[in-house]
Amino acid sequence: MFRLPKIASAIALAIAVSACGGGDKGTGPNPVPTYSAAITKAEISFDRTTFPEFVLLKVEGRGTKGNIPVTTGFLWKLDGNEVSTNATFEKPLVPGLYRLCLAVNDSHDVCQDINARIIPSKIAGRVVRNYPDPDDPSFALAMKVCARGVDKSSTKECVNADPLGNYSFNSWYQTEDSLVLSAECQVENCEYWPSAWRFSKAQLTQPQNFVVAHRNWTVSSGQWTGQTIDFVPSKAYVPGPANLSLFLRITGPSEGEYLYVLRTWKKERLPIPVALDPGCSVNATILQSDSTNLAHALSELNNELGDNHFRIANISEMSVSRVPGAIPRYNGGIGICVDPSVWPYGTTYVTTDAKYNDGGTVSVRSTNDKLDLKHELFHALGMGHVPIANEFWKSLMAARLSPSDPLYAKATKEDVGYYRIFEQVRELQLKYAAHGMAAIHQGELYLAGLPMENVYGSHPLTGIVQ
Ligand SMILES: [Zn+2]
Repeated sequence: MFRLPKIASAIALAIAVSACGGGDKGTGPNPVPTYSAAITKAEISFDRTTFPEFVLLKVEGRGTKGNIPVTTGFLWKLDGNEVSTNATFEKPLVPGLYRLCLAVNDSHDVCQDINARIIPSKIAGRVVRNYPDPDDPSFALAMKVCARGVDKSSTKECVNADPLGNYSFNSWYQTEDSLVLSAECQVENCEYWPSAWRFSKAQLTQPQNFVVAHRNWTVSSGQWTGQTIDFVPSKAYVPGPANLSLFLRITGPSEGEYLYVLRTWKKERLPIPVALDPGCSVNATILQSDSTNLAHALSELNNELGDNHFRIANISEMSVSRVPGAIPRYNGGIGICVDPSVWPYGTTYVTTDAKYNDGGTVSVRSTNDKLDLKHELFHALGMGHVPIANEFWKSLMAARLSPSDPLYAKATKEDVGYYRIFEQVRELQLKYAAHGMAAIHQGELYLAGLPMENVYGSHPLTGIVQ
């Protein structure tokens, strides 16, 4: 557990108590002392307002003769120098390591090590908002960055960021090796979700930038232009069908740990070439109607997404790795395999490089129902599923709606809004080398007072998504 110094209060240090010999008092067997001593408290506190260069040592001792407590005869030594004869005392110390000993009358000395090393750490970075433009000085960002120990009860030390989100502060912490940084609003209930992440001391020597996400999103183009959605990060991490959440994360390496999958397609790669592959499997049959259906599905998706995300292409435009008996892997685009043996409706593989999605293999049983094609293509963008529950929305990525439903086979405004926010946070994360959606999700838990999870930044997606 790591405790951050209260601006005006103390930090309790773990104290190792060790008893050592009382020293030689002349010739012959050492007389058995009639008094005994014990150090009952030795606390280091740091108060930056009153002792900028010092820490404060507060100690309490106990002396007894048999079982009878005594109040006199105390002798405290620091590194062998007498410092007090009272049962308790306080002393400002220059940060460092010390040896504290107490004797009461003829008792043996009792000693312990005092680790009063305070290591100043300059924590700096930038809070980057996803909306409006983070570099637009006409919109002042009112955020603060706080540091505290991993233990929720430890106190927070915060500093306000400047209007463009830059922040830096000295956080004083001691022996513990990790703490939580959070980028939060200066005022309660503001329009941004916080971002929070746990750091080791070593990591804090580097600037720490955070992307914060606006709580709502207005679609700026396409079918849902002008519509505003409420963005709730944790909703995107609730597992839906096939145990997949909309924003993907994988459990592991051990129970209760999560790896976030944070990739999107590179902006320069859009529109993504999409092509039917007649050679994708022995059962594959490409009919003229398949090309028409694909073109139709792509133009509908582009209209729902509000830009040209996909374009019809020829399979020769992308590199294909074909392994006998396995589904081909496409690079530089998305290959469509129409294979009647596919079950139940479709499958999608996404391949990635270190930072981006860069290929997709979509297999569908048939192109006749545009829902299957559009659903799998949304997977190929890196999205998972939306749970089937009241508090969620009608979605292309949830259970099949009735064909009579006007939203049947549509990427709904929420699907598009969540995808766009994910895409934008990822872009800002890469542009500013910042903490992205994973930290925004943990920030929501943190703000709600929930324990932060054991999470890891990101993990390449090389698996099957249905
Ligand atoms: Zn699916």
